[in-house]
Amino acid sequence: MSARLIDGKKIAADLRAAVALDVDELAETRKITPGLAVVLVGEDPASQVYVRSKGKATLEAGMKSFEHRLPAGATQAELLDLVQRMNADDAVDGILVQLPLPAHIDANAVLDAIRPDKDVDGFHPINAGKLAVGRPALVPCTPWGSMRLIRAVEPKLAGKRAVVLGRSNIVGKPMAQLLLAADCTVTVAHSKTNDLAAVAREADILVAAVGRPAMVGRDWIKPGAIVIDVGINRVPTPDGKGRLVGDVDFAAASDVAGAITPVPGGVGPMTIACLLENTVRAAKLRRGLALT
Ligand code: NDP
Repeated sequence: MSARLIDGKKIAADLRAAVALDVDELAETRKITPGLAVVLVGEDPASQVYVRSKGKATLEAGMKSFEHRLPAGATQAELLDLVQRMNADDAVDGILVQLPLPAHIDANAVLDAIRPDKDVDGFHPINAGKLAVGRPALVPCTPWGSMRLIRAVEPKLAGKRAVVLGRSNIVGKPMAQLLLAADCTVTVAHSKTNDLAAVAREADILVAAVGRPAMVGRDWIKPGAIVIDVGINRVPTPDGKGRLVGDVDFAAASDVAGAITPVPGGVGPMTIACLLENTVRAAKLRRGLALT
């Protein structure tokens, strides 16, 4: 392996420590303790793990955590009613509705109902629009965390060629907006892109967010490129437990890339750290306080 390993665990731990200091200062100087409310509908095992770890991290940062669990059969009206109550609750600074929602619930209607200034996932169209036109916004946590990882190895991004594989509203599109805002020249590729490998090979910064195990091989990577692997895919193992792999063939890519994130231990830990950071940002923005 010649590539430098981008240690998401360490960078996320540093960010969480900085957030905890910020929370202490808010409590001391303003008597404010930010609160994050997380809603889980149904019993999806992966979502349960995510919700539990978000609640734990929130408490560890010194903030208040509110967990709401609704049964899989909850109606859209019940969920919207809960969102309205959280919107009105002064103790709640951030609201996160864990996705995916059951098929009978219109996820867009629910995301649209969240107050934009409490939308710590950054999925509300108002926040997506603000990001697109370059105004301060609550930015989706996974791309925001990925930007932090990129900057950890390359602070000078202006003029770099960036390629984002994937165009979802949650990862690909906001990632492209953030890279563009950092003065990169950005290409967004997707399932209809011709000769994906050739497109990817142009990248000084390659972000893979497609959800296809080890799709990005050695010949997709420009020598020396920064490779950010957002993908989280569970693949079968002989013991039946399965293991997590990214969208990048890590061993092969490590021989060519200049720097690379592992899976797990790369982007994943940053997502939760940035959620905590967004909650503090939301608490400050709602009260008109300056952001640090
Ligand atoms: P989506 O399924 O919403 O989007 C996937 C994107 O990849 C789409 O734009 C799709 O193209 C594109 N795509 C799919 N297959 C191919 C292919 N064969 N070639 C080229 N493009 C392809 O996924 P998400 O954006 O939500 O997530 C992407 C990955 O990131 C997943 O593995 C997910 O688990 C992971 N993830 C990780 C997080 C973390 O914290 N680390 C957080 C969120 C997601 P098209 O639009 O044409 O269909």
